[in-house]
Amino acid sequence: MIIPSIDPEVRRIADRIIQSGKKAFLVGGAVRDAFLRKPVMDYDIATDATPEECMSLFPFAIPTGIKHGTITIVPRSRRYKVEITTLRKEAAYSDGRHPDSVTFVDDITQDLSRRDFTINAMAIDLMCNAFIDPFDGEKDLKDKIIRAVGNPMERFQEDGLRTVRAIRFSAQLEFAIEPNTLVAIAKCSDTLSKISTERIRDEFSKILLTAKPSVGLRLLSDTNLIKEIIPELEICKGISQPDHGEQDVYNHLLSTVDAVIPDNLSEDKVLILRLSALFHDIGKPACYRAENGKISFYRHEIESEKIARQILLRLKYPNRVIDKVCHLVRYHMFNYEPGWTDAAIRRFVARVGFSSIPDLFTLRLADTMATTGKPISWPALAEFRERIDRILEEKQALSLKDLAINGEDLAKIGIPRAKQMGEVLSELLDNVLEDPSLNTKEKLLEIAKGRYFEGFK
Ligand code: ATP
Ligand code: MG
Repeated sequence: MIIPSIDPEVRRIADRIIQSGKKAFLVGGAVRDAFLRKPVMDYDIATDATPEECMSLFPFAIPTGIKHGTITIVPRSRRYKVEITTLRKEAAYSDGRHPDSVTFVDDITQDLSRRDFTINAMAIDLMCNAFIDPFDGEKDLKDKIIRAVGNPMERFQEDGLRTVRAIRFSAQLEFAIEPNTLVAIAKCSDTLSKISTERIRDEFSKILLTAKPSVGLRLLSDTNLIKEIIPELEICKGISQPDHGEQDVYNHLLSTVDAVIPDNLSEDKVLILRLSALFHDIGKPACYRAENGKISFYRHEIESEKIARQILLRLKYPNRVIDKVCHLVRYHMFNYEPGWTDAAIRRFVARVGFSSIPDLFTLRLADTMATTGKPISWPALAEFRERIDRILEEKQALSLKDLAINGEDLAKIGIPRAKQMGEVLSELLDNVLEDPSLNTKEKLLEIAKGRYFEGFK
């Protein structure tokens, strides 16, 4: 095994620990990713120094989990963080999520034996650059296998989160799950109920960010874990939709998630788009109607939005993510005919909000790709996009804040700052969407006076 070179900033931190007479090992994901030649995101160092000793060596460290023995250092470059954890062994896990107690030890093998998978239980001894691999992680890394350290049933019963982590690593690294480990995941699926929602959600998000999320999503379903996370997806199985060829709703949702291509998009954006793809038709089973041999899902986007909101709230996604996903799900069925007037296009943009347009198009293209297997099968969509872009370039008014007048102006002519003012403003916007030349202070005040004061005569 050739030891990968260690980042100089991490090396300096390790050297300070070693110079104080203590041991230092690189452990966990950094060792795994270095051997896979993947960019290392964060470094974990294990040491026999106590957390207090570590804090005195690194006074600027953050005591992130000092009780369990972890402190965090953000190096000057801020490219990553380094967590220093005191070597430890864990007592029994009677609650299925945390060890009853943690004891600090000085033996690296003991520390590695509490870790989840063999590929995560390798270490590099930073004192002599030796590779420590008591569970044959290197072999599993070469064979592309996720295997629990020790007895898989026991390890999943100790901490149910490991079941989803196994699937997440399998999906992320494109590794197979070792058969005994896979069987144990399915047998322990109910252990997830003891795990905090936030931890499950974070692993689930990582699955959605992989190159082909359907692989991880299918594993979650095959092992019954999905029933603990998003049971609503299971109901979509077997719901056929004649306009989608052979694909039932379930398979269509998974194909749409895969069809959201991450190129040039931030991780945050990819997550929002993939959640939207996963939920865009989830309301279809509830809206299924078969009349005169014709199947329809009338207004399913409204039901999908409702279900998506329930799921995302339950999984404790931030409100910002929930609102964006629900908005995209709600409007994913948008329609366009080349005969539309510019006013109709302006009304569409005003309704969905121009900042949502690129995401709405990306979602629609993924939806189309999943349905037809072809990248673009709707030339009108490109034309629609061009017409929207032209309107945006011309900086025509599309929302209340683009109007040539505001509440202040209306107050001056005697319209009270109450519900009526909101109504007048939105009526003015309707007028301007229809005819942009009305967007001058003079003309709008005139319309406002007419509408408001006439209404009281
Ligand atoms: P990532 O790239 O996602 O950060 P990672 O392997 O570094 O992958 P972390 O969650 O950062 O994963 O955990 C660091 C290490 O701690 C793991 O490699 C593993 O050795 C150990 N570990 C983390 N979570 C668990 C767990 N639930 N049970 C056992 N060991 C765990
Ligand atoms: Mg990590």
